[in-house]
Amino acid sequence: MARRTKIYEGTAKILYEGPEPGTIVQHFKDDTTAFNAEKKAVIEGKGVLNNRLSEFFMTGMTQVGIPNHFIKRLNMREQLIREVEIIPIEVVVRNWSAGSFAKRFKREEGERLPRSIVEYYYKSDELGDPLITEEHITAFGWAHPHDIDEILALALRINDFLTGLCLGIGLRLVDVQLEFGRLWENEQMRIVLADEISPDNCRLWDLETNEPMDKDRFRKDLGRVEEAYQEVARRLGILPESGPS
Ligand code: UDP
Repeated sequence: MARRTKIYEGTAKILYEGPEPGTIVQHFKDDTTAFNAEKKAVIEGKGVLNNRLSEFFMTGMTQVGIPNHFIKRLNMREQLIREVEIIPIEVVVRNWSAGSFAKRFKREEGERLPRSIVEYYYKSDELGDPLITEEHITAFGWAHPHDIDEILALALRINDFLTGLCLGIGLRLVDVQLEFGRLWENEQMRIVLADEISPDNCRLWDLETNEPMDKDRFRKDLGRVEEAYQEVARRLGILPESGPS
């Protein structure tokens, strides 16, 4: 394979320059980390599954008119995406109490929230992704107030779309973390969903048993991490061509 220019390497993904200007190749790795990289592991086959799962969710969103960066899947571990200017904010939509939210408000995990709650975190490993408000976002110039309105509206639409999709396969969407980017087309700017949608960045519980089917299996040492990701793919009717056994 011809040498490619690496743009960025994170824990779970590598970005390469794409074949056309304005495109990027997103490569999914098997590596995973938790608790700000204090805990690390390799989950055999995770990258293959997340590539397929993210393709599935992004394609579905395109079909219902939710703008996103996905163009097409290239192979088992890679997909072609549009180059966007990433907004340095992690948007978390929560439907049920879990994780850091349950701790912060001393609530049981699995408590239904009165409505979907949207939170913003500043993307900074050094600071440990602190919780922020719209005031920080606008004061520091990370996004304009009208961008925040757009992000909020998109985040709630994405949450509704994913919630419905998950219910159809017997899963509860407890929470989901989203990233957005600015896409420039003919001097026009649009905010689109970026990054990935997979069990790495959402909490999915089995509707009947409340068994986590996501990255919490790794965070909490519950075991059978890869099997859980595979089960999500199986229920959606998508399994990699020849993936992990
Ligand atoms: N999340 C993520 N990346 C992070 C932190 C959280 O994708 O760096 C996801 C996590 O999987 C969950 C949601 O965001 O679906 C809310 O996570 P929370 O704030 O509860 O943090 P956690 O306790 O999971 O670190």
